[in-house]
Amino acid sequence: MTVIVTVTVTMIVAPLSAATVRLIRPHFNPDGKTHGAPEDANRHAGDLGNIIVGDDGTATFTITDSQIPLSGPNSIVGRAVVVHADPDDLGKGGHELSLSTGNAGGRVACGIIGLQG
Ligand SMILES: [Zn+2]
Repeated sequence: MTVIVTVTVTMIVAPLSAATVRLIRPHFNPDGKTHGAPEDANRHAGDLGNIIVGDDGTATFTITDSQIPLSGPNSIVGRAVVVHADPDDLGKGGHELSLSTGNAGGRVACGIIGLQG
């Protein structure tokens, strides 16, 4: 059974401290695939695409996906949502980092995924 998860996030996009950046792990990739777009079959499970950040430095977005379960061994609860400084090329940019990170630049904001009652 495929479970479709919808995650809605509102975050303030501001520079992270070096200590915080060191705590964030690489893209969630339980199946050992390469970086890609949300609609790609071959992608890291954590590859959720690009968002738009407003002039006020905030972003609100909703993501619906079938590869990010809220329970089980690959649960995303407790994992980070990370916003990068540059657009993600979704693995198609031809840059040496395209297939690992989407050449999306530094980490500028993050939040931890949790369940709310
Ligand atoms: Zn990735």
